[in-house]
Amino acid sequence: MQHLIDRFISYVTIDTESDAHSPTTPSTAKQLDLANLLVHELQAIGLTEVTIDEKGYVMGTLPSNVDHEVPTIGFVSHYDTSPDFTGKGVSPQIVRNYDGGDIVLNAEKNIVLSPSYFEDLLLYKGQTLITTNGLTLLGADDKAGLTEIVSAMEYLVQHPEIKHGKIRVGFTPDEEIGRGADFFDVEQFGAQWAYTMDGSQLGELEYENFNAAGAKITFKGKSVHPGYAKGKMINSMLIANDFINALPKHEIPQETEGYEGFFHVTGLNGSLEETHLELIIRDHDRAKFEARKALVLQISADINARFAAQFGEDICIAEVKDQYYNMREKVEPMYFIVDLAEQAMRELGIEPLIKPIRGGTDGSRLSYMGLPCPNIFAGGHNFHGKYEYVPVESMQKAVDVIVKIAELTATTKFQ
Ligand SMILES: [Zn+2]
Repeated sequence: MQHLIDRFISYVTIDTESDAHSPTTPSTAKQLDLANLLVHELQAIGLTEVTIDEKGYVMGTLPSNVDHEVPTIGFVSHYDTSPDFTGKGVSPQIVRNYDGGDIVLNAEKNIVLSPSYFEDLLLYKGQTLITTNGLTLLGADDKAGLTEIVSAMEYLVQHPEIKHGKIRVGFTPDEEIGRGADFFDVEQFGAQWAYTMDGSQLGELEYENFNAAGAKITFKGKSVHPGYAKGKMINSMLIANDFINALPKHEIPQETEGYEGFFHVTGLNGSLEETHLELIIRDHDRAKFEARKALVLQISADINARFAAQFGEDICIAEVKDQYYNMREKVEPMYFIVDLAEQAMRELGIEPLIKPIRGGTDGSRLSYMGLPCPNIFAGGHNFHGKYEYVPVESMQKAVDVIVKIAELTATTKFQ
C-alpha cells in the first residue's frame, strides 16, 4: 500500500487547478506538469501507444495477452482539480490506523475533520486515511482515480498470468470546469466502452445522471419618476420576482433528492430597467426535463402577454440551452457493462452502491460522443474543499476492481 500512497502523493503535490475563465485547453498550463509525468509513468510501466496531444489529453494502451477476440475497454480519469478551493501547496497528512476520533488538520487554525460532522469517517476505522493540512483541497478528485488506473495497469503488466484484452487508459484536463470531454478523441481512444474512475465512496457505481439545461432570462423595465409612475413604470426586478414565484416552490435543490428534479436560481442582478436571472434545470427523466424547459418558456410567454400592450415588445427574453443528458439512455442498451462492474465488485466482496448521480460526469458527455461510460468509485470524500480525504484501502479496492473488470472482460461471453 505504501506504493499507492507514494504515487498518490506525487500527483497531489503538483498543482493542477483548472480555471473556468481561461479560453485555452488545458485551461491552466500547470496541468501539463502532471500530464507529462503521467506520460512518463505509463511509458516506464511498459504501456504502448502512449500519447499526449496539444490539448493535454493523455492516452495509453495495455495490449491484450490472449489469442481470442476480446472487446477493447477503457478507464478514464481527470487530472485537474476544482477551482472551488486552492490546490497549491497540498501537504497531505497520513493517518494510520484511524481510531474513529477527531483528526486535527491544522492546530494553529483549529481546523478539525470530525466524524460528528462527517459521519462517513466511521466507515474507515482502523484504516489509513490521507487528509489535507486544512489549507488546501486534497485532489483525491480525481488523482485517486489516476493513481488507481496507473497502479492497476502496472499490476497487470507484472502479472501476465491474469488474462485480459486490449485496455486503453485516458486522462483528461479541465473536467472540473465542465470541459473534460470537449476534445476527447473517442475514435482515437478506440474502446467499445469505458469507466470513469471518478466516484466517491467505496462501492459506488453510477450510470444515471441528470439531464441538464441552463437558462438566462433578461427582463426589461421602464423608468419613470416614482412620483408620477402610476400606470407607466415597469420595474424589471419585480417582474423577475414574479417569474421566480411562478416556478414550483419546492422543486429546488435543498428540498429534493434521489430522482427528484429541480429549478435552481444561480444568479440574479438587476436595476429598474434591466434584470438578469440565471437558473439551471435538472431532471433524470427526459420527458420531465423537457416539461421543465417548456415551463420556463411558458412563464416567459405569460409575462410577455401581460405586458404586451404597455411595453410594445417582449419584456422577458428567455434563452434555454441544453448542457448535458442522462447517460442512462446510452448505457441501457448495453447494460452488461454495468453488470460487469457490479460482478467485479461482488467477486471482491464489495457491496455495489448503485444510485443516480445528481449532477453530471465526463462520462455522460462521453456516452453521447459514442463511448458509453459508467462511473466507478475512486474512494475519496468531501471533494472540492479542505475536508477532502481518501482511505488508502478504498484506493486499493478500486485498483482491484479495475483488474477484475479487465479479467472478466476477457472471460465473459458477450452477445
Ligand atoms: Zn472528479
